[in-house]
Amino acid sequence: MGRLDDKVVLITGGSRGQGAEEGRLFTDEGATVILTDVLDELGQQTAATIEGATYRHLDVRSEPEWEAVVGGVMESHGRIDVLVNNAGIDLVKKLAATTLEEFERVVAINQTGTFLGMRTVANAMIAAEKPCSIVNISSVAGLEGVPNHGAYSGTKFAVTGMTKAAAKEWGRYGIRVNSVHPGIIETPMTEDLRSFTDDEVRAKVERTIPLRRMGQSIDIANMVLFLASDESAYCTGQAFTVDGGVHP
Ligand code: NAD
Repeated sequence: MGRLDDKVVLITGGSRGQGAEEGRLFTDEGATVILTDVLDELGQQTAATIEGATYRHLDVRSEPEWEAVVGGVMESHGRIDVLVNNAGIDLVKKLAATTLEEFERVVAINQTGTFLGMRTVANAMIAAEKPCSIVNISSVAGLEGVPNHGAYSGTKFAVTGMTKAAAKEWGRYGIRVNSVHPGIIETPMTEDLRSFTDDEVRAKVERTIPLRRMGQSIDIANMVLFLASDESAYCTGQAFTVDGGVHP
């Protein structure tokens, strides 16, 4: 018995990194997974290596693309039990140097994308009249201000807030909504950081982490699995931090 037997799961930003890891773990747990992303070639390759996963193009900024993908999944699978709003981009820049264009791009993907996903899928979930789960990937930057991440941090706080409001609105329909807050996780998003590429810097950073190591995608995937599954049936509107103990 898998923890996601018979569940249909839609994951955004699933071509690589944490989203792809969630696809691998969730299919192992019995789910049918639809990975979506804008990196189509990589997404097709990733899905081809995961039995039980398929790939569809979805730019999370696009309302018509959300409608088309959710409509397509409803047509082929009849329901969506779990949505993981995982797609996101980072912007490492001082707030005073951030252009409006850069700011709006981060907002469009991290914040508007999460809003569109929650709204589009929730309407299908409400109509289905079954227990469902939405997991929004925020960040520790969605719980405290992080220097050089002003725009990013703002969008991740927005995800934290929308999660809590949606949980209160949709609880009566059996839809749970929670957010996950990763610390520094080793993925393509962070591969250029000196804390991953320079052994000396890495050792120094690791000494500041109570669990003395950087996070891996599987650390996040395990938390998202818990929130996607019925094991978390009485959790909603909550923020779950997975960062090795840096932000207790
Ligand atoms: P990643 O860059 O490997 O994965 C992000 C995915 O989102 C990529 O596949 C990318 O193509 C996709 N994406 C970007 N723009 C998109 C768009 N417009 N539409 C659809 N997909 C789009 O990074 P990751 O670390 O796996 O990030 C996953 C999530 O975790 C993100 O929301 C990120 O903000 C969050 N996060 C990451 C870290 C970290 O240290 N890696 C820390 C905290 C939070």
